[in-house]
Amino acid sequence: MDYIEGLLARVKKRNPNEPEFHQAVTEVLESLHPVIAKHPEYIEAGILERIVEPERQIIFRVPWVDDNGVVQVNRGFRIEFNSAIGPYKGGLRFHPSVNASIIKFLGFEQVFKNALTGLPIGGGKGGSDFDPKGKSDGEVMRFCQSFMTELFRHIGADTDVPAGDIGVGAREIGYMFGQYKRLTNRFEGVLTGKGLAYGGSLVRTEATGYALVYFVEEMLKAKAEDLAGKTIVVSGSGNVALYAVEKATQLGAKVVAMSDSNGFVFDRAGIDLPLMKQLKEVERKRCKDYLHCHPQAEFSENGSDIWSVPCDIALPCATQNELDKDAAHKLVRNGCIAVAEGANMPCTPGAIKVFQDSGVLFGPAKAANAGGVACSALEMTQNSMRYAWTFEEVDARLKVIMKNIYQKVSEAAQAYSHPDNLVAGANIAGFIRVAEAMLAQGVV
Ligand code: NDP
Repeated sequence: MDYIEGLLARVKKRNPNEPEFHQAVTEVLESLHPVIAKHPEYIEAGILERIVEPERQIIFRVPWVDDNGVVQVNRGFRIEFNSAIGPYKGGLRFHPSVNASIIKFLGFEQVFKNALTGLPIGGGKGGSDFDPKGKSDGEVMRFCQSFMTELFRHIGADTDVPAGDIGVGAREIGYMFGQYKRLTNRFEGVLTGKGLAYGGSLVRTEATGYALVYFVEEMLKAKAEDLAGKTIVVSGSGNVALYAVEKATQLGAKVVAMSDSNGFVFDRAGIDLPLMKQLKEVERKRCKDYLHCHPQAEFSENGSDIWSVPCDIALPCATQNELDKDAAHKLVRNGCIAVAEGANMPCTPGAIKVFQDSGVLFGPAKAANAGGVACSALEMTQNSMRYAWTFEEVDARLKVIMKNIYQKVSEAAQAYSHPDNLVAGANIAGFIRVAEAMLAQGVV
């Protein structure tokens, strides 16, 4: 058994019943063979052993009272994974599926993603198994206040700066920020994704989706292609999905399908984005309701069938492991030329292998969806300066950051692996930045 296999075996033994965490660690460690062969100092300093172990894991009770006066109890998490290059940074997810494995996989990925942005942010992630769906505003507020009543003691503008993720948008960030300020008596940039009225950044709402499309543009440019006239399928209809659709449409592509956890809608005329935004952002309705305004569109309750819709480009933007090997084969058979991950780890290892073996361009989440956290770091910068940039200024910075990420990732792929292997490139480029900082800081 070689060094990396041995370490993987120890990670699995030490973190039993955490399949998502094992999957994320396996993907990164398996990319690192050529790196440790060139840098034995990383082994001597125990960098790999330390990088797979979170610096701190906080798990706490979140009690709250629902609208019927009944006491409810959820579980809260904050995993502070690595602070070698900056304060912990990463979103909070509120979804019934949340558990330690999911938060640890997300926190681990975040470490390398944040390193790729070139900005001074470490990696962390958190959340709760609370389901905001179907809850009243009052219930969501009471939950958020209770969640922050424990979390506030562990975070801070220079310590740990959470943001949104699945189930946590502007409303939830607002309630948590209000409670943090009340408890600490400090108005500071402790959360990102804030409303514009109280320290938020322009473009943060759009950032992950827009930047995903900027990354796709770079992938296509390298093959003398562009987005104009391309047909795209986007899974999900949340924050990332909606703004990926907006930017792709602005750049001349046509998005024909989107989904939620109840199924997918297919509109060959092109998705009516203003309607989808109204349904999802304002009315909190389902994709199925799209058909009330567009009866010519089709709806299927089998969400994973969205990958049977013929397209040139697929952008999975919903959740982890939503696109498997069979779905990947369908996309390849239908002539798909590029896939980029808007969600975190949406493609299974089997699906990624199918894309790589078939010559489909593949943009991994760590690189392709890093625009969200990059924009969050720009929000932190503006908060520190007590200043606000214009939409155009933030968007221009975001574009440059995504260009640089593509460049760094493809250079690392070229240096250590196959030039088209952006999975290896992202893992390696992110890892080296963090490893160098850890090496310089001694055994901590
Ligand atoms: P939202 O909550 O805004 O939207 C999530 C979307 O995905 C919804 O359409 C939701 O459908 C669907 N979805 C969620 N879970 C499932 C599931 N188990 N099965 C099927 N569909 C599901 O979240 P975001 O758009 O913010 O996040 C989407 C992905 O992007 C996540 O993987 C997140 O980690 C990642 N990401 C987000 C960033 C951000 O800035 N927001 C930054 C980087 C990555 P339904 O409403 O029916 O649940």
